[in-house]
Amino acid sequence: MFCLNITEKMKCEKCDREFDSEVALEHHNKAKHGEVFKKSRWENLNKKKIRNLSFSFIVVLLIGFSGFFIFDKSQNVDILAVNLLSHDNVALHIHPILEIEILGENFPIPSNTGITDGIMKVVHTHDSSGTLHVEPPIPYELRLTHFFQLWSRTFNSQCIFDNCVDSEHELLFYVNGELNNEYENLLLKDHDEIKIVYREK
Ligand SMILES: [Zn+2]
Ligand SMILES: [Zn+2]
Repeated sequence: MFCLNITEKMKCEKCDREFDSEVALEHHNKAKHGEVFKKSRWENLNKKKIRNLSFSFIVVLLIGFSGFFIFDKSQNVDILAVNLLSHDNVALHIHPILEIEILGENFPIPSNTGITDGIMKVVHTHDSSGTLHVEPPIPYELRLTHFFQLWSRTFNSQCIFDNCVDSEHELLFYVNGELNNEYENLLLKDHDEIKIVYREK
């Protein structure tokens, strides 16, 4: 606004004229400085509108993108049913390493787990080194449970195969040498060394 309230009088900021009331000052502003007032107000309104519009546009974009990613990752796609005919055109190709030790004995993961007649599932092995080949054809958060499901074996915080936690046995889960409590929910990452140990307490 163009007025400053000094003592009891209203004063126009533009030309220093004094007025007895706000109404009088408003009349004066309209008459003498009307155009400037209108213009700047119009500009302000427009700037505000443009800001609001850009903000809405960005929000819509963000919602659209997150929707796309949520759809892409949570997906309506049955990732375990996906068959790969080759190693070409995968969205990701990483190699975590899995080791299983049961009652002091190393349990090798069979080669070609997740491969039948040359058709590969999104997590599979090519040899018995424990290297998992994780190759989703679309962006997908593959977890250790996916490998066990494709292998048709049980693994969770309580059991590895049919070896379950009880009063005499415990199940420990390590990632890169450190205890971890994610078990089957562990997100598979490149070069992670995953170790499952079932042992007597
Ligand atoms: Zn591979
Ligand atoms: Zn492969």
